[in-house]
Amino acid sequence: MIHFSLSLSLSLSLSPLSLSLFSLSLSLSLSLSLSLSLSLSLSLSLSEVTVTRKRQDYLEWPEYFMAVAFLSAQRSKDPSSQVGACIVNQENKIVGIGYNGMPNGCDDDLMPWSRSAEDKLDTKYPYVCHAELNAIMNKNSADVKGCSMYVALFPCNECAKLIIQAGIKDVIYLSDKYHDSPEMTASRRLLNLAGVQYRWVIKIAMHFHSIKKQYYFHT
Ligand SMILES: [Zn+2]
Repeated sequence: MIHFSLSLSLSLSLSPLSLSLFSLSLSLSLSLSLSLSLSLSLSLSLSEVTVTRKRQDYLEWPEYFMAVAFLSAQRSKDPSSQVGACIVNQENKIVGIGYNGMPNGCDDDLMPWSRSAEDKLDTKYPYVCHAELNAIMNKNSADVKGCSMYVALFPCNECAKLIIQAGIKDVIYLSDKYHDSPEMTASRRLLNLAGVQYRWVIKIAMHFHSIKKQYYFHT
């Protein structure tokens, strides 16, 4: 473009017609420059839009709360079953977290953890507190009325009673592996009668590697 302008400026001394040609070419050149800078700024602003757009693969709320429940389950000392629960209020704020374990003050090194024994008193069942109970008892709000509970395993009948009495409005669970047991059948009966909704959350998908990449490689 610069070369084009110079060659026409040489023709300036030749004739008035050339002068007008020069003016024309100059304005053409200017307009070309203008369009070039416009296109540059346009492409720049497009790339800025790309950079500043929000992430699309962030965790949805249900996945997030269920993941918190699963993380809590990792605190459990139970060798056969680790369950976590997370209670969330209507503003999507976590108000209680719990996992299955022995009652406070009961040394879990002295308590039985087996699932079966000749004497039921030598199994964990008469003693262990389920995740739902602990999440309700650990609440950091005045109450959990109208809240949702995210729990890894469908609640048993004892926990269903607690959920109902605490005023929890719905239960979101991932596994229902004891669906046909009397405890789960009784639980569904109670929850249905009390109008507590329950639904299965389809999946949890967390990609820690994408976060790791940002922290370790500054991409
Ligand atoms: Zn239970």
